Amino acid sequence: MARIDDDMHDAGSTQRAFTLVEVAPEPVPADLAVVTPPSSEKRRRGDVFRPGPGPMVQFQGVIKRYDGDVRGLDGVSVSIAAGEFVFLVGQSGSGKSTFIRLCIRELRATSGHVIIGGRDLGELRRSKVPYLRRAIGCVFQDFRLLPDRTASENVAYALQVTGHSRQEVNRRVPEILALVGLDGKGDRLPRELSGGEQQRVSIARALVNQPRLLIADEPTGNLDPDTSQGIMDLLTRINRTGTTVLVATHDRDTVDRMQQRVIALHNGRIVRDAEGGYNEDPGDTGEIA
Ligand code: ADP
Ligand code: MG
Repeated sequence: MARIDDDMHDAGSTQRAFTLVEVAPEPVPADLAVVTPPSSEKRRRGDVFRPGPGPMVQFQGVIKRYDGDVRGLDGVSVSIAAGEFVFLVGQSGSGKSTFIRLCIRELRATSGHVIIGGRDLGELRRSKVPYLRRAIGCVFQDFRLLPDRTASENVAYALQVTGHSRQEVNRRVPEILALVGLDGKGDRLPRELSGGEQQRVSIARALVNQPRLLIADEPTGNLDPDTSQGIMDLLTRINRTGTTVLVATHDRDTVDRMQQRVIALHNGRIVRDAEGGYNEDPGDTGEIA
């Protein structure tokens, strides 16, 4: 497996990989076209974690033990292709957050392999982990916004840390806020926004660097059902631009309504992997290879 350091100096191969995963499965809706970067955009060399061809997320026999014998994950093998929309479901304590935190290397597997965009995270140098995290958009239940910064400033911050110019930030932030439905609310502090609006800010922040993979851990956990549906609809629209979306949730109604691929965890193991609702019998639905 190629190390990220080697790839950095191989513009040819990263360019090909980039093109492959950029193919959108459906036409990009006009209002979301903004998430596709202009091809002329320059990035600082080596500071972008570019997914290669092949699965976007791959777990091979992953075991995660916490202190003692507490099992976070207990032998998980699964593959998520570029462009998929996947729900990760299961009751509290089943291992959903452990799965997500392994994907962004907030945790390291006790054994097995976690491979993101073709890179084995067990081999990723610690100094490269920030690039991995910037390349994956992350959304959390508690929004994790900077409380003393406005919506615009929260989104701008994500662009500033990736080295974008002030002009680029000034152009991109209002665009991305408009596309998540927050037109005109950029000057508000998080506490001046509803829960659903705060989650839209956090999605804008996750999207603004055009990630190939968007991961959300219980994004609607603090929201009422109608607001939750709006957030899920937004994640679906983002997925239609070609972004792979992985959503951990235990919101049955939403999962049942959306009829997407559902990976169900129980006690750290995958007990079902099928398209359909939250609880369907795998015999009733086609398994996704
Ligand atoms: P979920 O997100 O589905 O609720 P988690 O991945 O948070 O599940 O937890 C899976 C299991 O790992 C639970 O038994 C939980 O108590 C345990 N666990 C999670 N985080 C830690 C931790 N930091 N230290 C010890 N045990 C943990
Ligand atoms: Mg959790």
